[in-house]
Amino acid sequence: MERTLSIIKPDAVGRGLMGDVIKRLESNEIHIIGMKMLHMTRSQAEGFYAVHRERPFFSSLCDFMSSGPALVMVLEGEDVIKRYRSLMGATNYKDAKEGTIRRDFATDIEKNVVHGSDAPETAAVEINYFFNSFEIMT
Ligand code: UDP
Ligand code: MG
Repeated sequence: MERTLSIIKPDAVGRGLMGDVIKRLESNEIHIIGMKMLHMTRSQAEGFYAVHRERPFFSSLCDFMSSGPALVMVLEGEDVIKRYRSLMGATNYKDAKEGTIRRDFATDIEKNVVHGSDAPETAAVEINYFFNSFEIMT
């Protein structure tokens, strides 16, 4: 069993897509073991995406991520990091495969509906960024 951090980003919450994304998790044996809605401050968004701080899209990304409420979840399942990333699809929805969340719902390379951790080490850091142990079902 493995865990990963998922965020349904502000574009998707605003467009009423939380249910669609959650449905895909529940249909794919990905279990939600922690969940909260939050409206990140800009500095919380900057901290979350600190690895990207030198990238040209960083400032706009942090504005976007702090623009409205997001749904943050801890997901659990076998090989869930990789399986959730493949359900999400490529970062740029135009490159994402048919039937992926981003291909089906994203409108923009930045406003791409979902986040998912990319490796066990980043998943652990990202889960700890938003959740304490009492907020995760075991
Ligand atoms: N992003 C962007 N422009 C780019 C690349 C990324 O706006 O050229 C945004 C997009 O929202 C993406 C996030 O920055 O999801 C983090 O980028 P990363 O490369 O980590 O993509 P992800 O892991 O989310 O697929
Ligand atoms: Mg990433």
